[in-house]
Amino acid sequence: MKCVICKGKIENSFLGKIMGTFVKKKAVCSACQKKHGKGVDALVE
Ligand SMILES: [Zn+2]
Repeated sequence: MKCVICKGKIENSFLGKIMGTFVKKKAVCSACQKKHGKGVDALVE
């Protein structure tokens, strides 16, 4: 799975969850989530 913002690979945790979040059904990595905060909404189409 790839982050829609930085295009980086998103790893899965041992529980099968992604190391990030979903914004508008698109995957965003935890680094971008931290970096942009609530601004990720504007960055995801
Ligand atoms: Zn990212």
